[in-house]
Amino acid sequence: MGRNFSMEKLQQLYEGKAKKVYAVKGDADLFIVEYKDDATAFNGEKRGTITGKGVINNKMSNILFKMLEANGVKTHFVKELSDRETLVKAVKIIPLEIIIRNVAAGSFSKRYGVEEGRELKAPTLEFSLKNDALNDPLINNYHIIALDIASEAELKIISDMAFKINELLKNYFANIGVKLIDFKIEMGRDKDNNIILADEISPDTCRFWDAETNEKLDKDRFRRDLGNVEAAYQEMFKRVSK
Ligand code: UDP
Repeated sequence: MGRNFSMEKLQQLYEGKAKKVYAVKGDADLFIVEYKDDATAFNGEKRGTITGKGVINNKMSNILFKMLEANGVKTHFVKELSDRETLVKAVKIIPLEIIIRNVAAGSFSKRYGVEEGRELKAPTLEFSLKNDALNDPLINNYHIIALDIASEAELKIISDMAFKINELLKNYFANIGVKLIDFKIEMGRDKDNNIILADEISPDTCRFWDAETNEKLDKDRFRRDLGNVEAAYQEMFKRVSK
């Protein structure tokens, strides 16, 4: 494409809990994301480090985004620049956590009094408003439209994309002996206002259970002090890299 990938980071635009985002010198349509080893849970109440997590999340997310792209899902992925850095299309993030569930777990189990591990009759979709000060409250489609966070047409696109991503990921993980319990994704608007998949897909943002043993291979090991946190991330990365 004739693009020069010896890119220079310009100023840091944003620092989140697990990533930093930089502007790119000379190209307003691109950002560089840099993955950190920092881990937080319970809205920042619990803090720690998961050694090597940044590298694993960067590389795993890129593998998954490429797989999704190959199956017709538009994403922000452009190019992996280094172990921890990836070049992505600049988007304005839609402030929604888009959560798909195949099996009851976490806040869903708590909220509805359903045992963790119960297979859901059909995949579910829910939205939370990305707002730390408010503790990311659940928000419904009417609220999203009323608050002008997304239009009705955009919500249809977002929902259809989310369920399609779920089918692709479920299949992908089933092939490597992993049950995809649930996950959170984020989407953004590119310069032409197209909605594309952004952020990351990693053990930080998904629940992965070993298909044979139901062993947890994701951030719940950190959230719930289950031990072997690094080993779980490494195991997931090993399976995804095969
Ligand atoms: N999740 C996430 N970021 C959040 C909240 C949830 O990535 O701020 C992911 C989480 O890893 C899980 C799914 O979304 O895979 C559903 O999480 P849940 O609502 O059960 O919340 P939790 O139990 O983690 O509070």
